[in-house]
Amino acid sequence: MTIPIVDLYAQYLTIKQEIDRAIAEVIAESAYIRGRHVDAFEQAWASALGVKRCISCANGTDAIYIALRALRVKPGDEVITSAHSSISTSETITQAGGRVVFCDTDEETFTVDPDDIQRKITPAAVGIIPVHLYGQPADMDAIMAIAKRHNLWVIEDCGQAHLARYKGRYVGTFGDAASFSFYPAKNLGAYGDAGCVVTNDDRLAEWMTTFARHGGKGDHIMEGINSRMDGLQAAILNAKLPHLRAWTEARRRLAGCYDELLDDVGDIITPKVGPGRDHVYHLYVIRTENRDTLREYLTQAGISTVLSYPKALPFYPAYAHLGHVPKDFPVACFNQSRILSLPIYPEMTKEMITHTVGYIASFFKEFQESDSIPAKVIQFAERL
Ligand SMILES: *Cc1c(COP(=O)(O)O)cnc(C)c1O
Repeated sequence: MTIPIVDLYAQYLTIKQEIDRAIAEVIAESAYIRGRHVDAFEQAWASALGVKRCISCANGTDAIYIALRALRVKPGDEVITSAHSSISTSETITQAGGRVVFCDTDEETFTVDPDDIQRKITPAAVGIIPVHLYGQPADMDAIMAIAKRHNLWVIEDCGQAHLARYKGRYVGTFGDAASFSFYPAKNLGAYGDAGCVVTNDDRLAEWMTTFARHGGKGDHIMEGINSRMDGLQAAILNAKLPHLRAWTEARRRLAGCYDELLDDVGDIITPKVGPGRDHVYHLYVIRTENRDTLREYLTQAGISTVLSYPKALPFYPAYAHLGHVPKDFPVACFNQSRILSLPIYPEMTKEMITHTVGYIASFFKEFQESDSIPAKVIQFAERL
C-alpha cells in the first residue's frame, strides 16, 4: 500500500457529478472571470463564518497583501508575526512597505507566543499577523488583548484553518481582517489558485474590493492590482463547501486515531491542542528526535510525509539581513528540527492510518534493536 500525503483525485471521485456539473456550467456561461459563481461563493463563505464581507482574490498570499495595504502600512511600520509559518505571511509585510518582526512560538501548539509579541512591541509597531498553523487557532484572547492595549490591528492568517474555532468562534472573525487560501490541498481547496479576505469592516471591504480590481471598475480612483478568483475556481468551491463540515469531522476522527495509536510509540509527541481551541488538522504534525531517519524509513515503505516548514523563517536567505541567530527563536528552531507531517485527508481510511502507524512502530522497534539508526540520529543531532 502506498499512502500519499493528500489524495485530491480520491476526493474528486466522491463528488464527481457535482464538480463536473459546476465546471460545465461555467463553460456554458463563459463565466470565467467574476460573475455569479464568484458572487455566490463570496456570500456563502461569509455566511459560513458569520462575517459581513468576503472579498475573493487570486490566492492566499494576495489576500494578506491586500489586507496589509488596506490597513495602510507605511515604510518603517513594524508588523509582528510568527517565525514558524509559510513565507507568504512575512513576504507580504515587506511588499506592503513594512518591516517584519518575527516572534517565537509556543512549544505545544506551534502558534505565535503572545509573551514574545509583547516583548517585541516598539513604538513603530502597527499590527500583528497571527497564523492558525496546521489548523489550530492561535491564542486569540491573549493576542487581541495585546492588540487592544497597544492600538494595533490584527490580520489573521487562516490559510490552514478553515472552520477552526477558538472558544466556539470561527477563526477569521477576531481580527480587523483575515486571509484564507483555497490552494488545492487546503482543507477547502480549489482546482488551482484562489483566496479571499474576510472582514466585518465595510470601509476596509470597499477599499480592498477596489484595490484588488485595478483600483475600480470604469473609474480608477487609485492604482490597484489585479487579483481575482476565477469563475471555475468559485464554482468548484461552491460545489465543495457543503461538504466541508463532514470533511473537517473526518480529519478530526483520523487525528483521534493517530493520537490513540501513536501514544507510547517511540519518542513521538502527538499534536497538543491548546485550551478552548478546535483543531481542524490541515496537517497532523508529530515531533520526534528521530525525524529524518523516520522520514526516510517511511518513504521507503511508500508512505509520504512533509516538513512544514523545515526552517524558521528568519533563517532563510531572504531574511539573512536581519542577522538572527537560533537563540532568538529557541522554540521554533527546536520544534522545526523535529516536526513531521503524516498523511491526513478526509478520504483516508482507518486501515491507512493503522498501516502508517504500523511502519512507525516497526521503525522504533528496529531502532531499539540495532545500532545503525542511533548512530545516524546522533550524527544528525550534532549537525544542528
Ligand atoms: C497556504 C498558505 C498561505 C498562502 O496561500 P496561497 O494561496 O498558496 O498563496 C498563507 N499562509 C499560510 C499559513 C498558508 O498555509
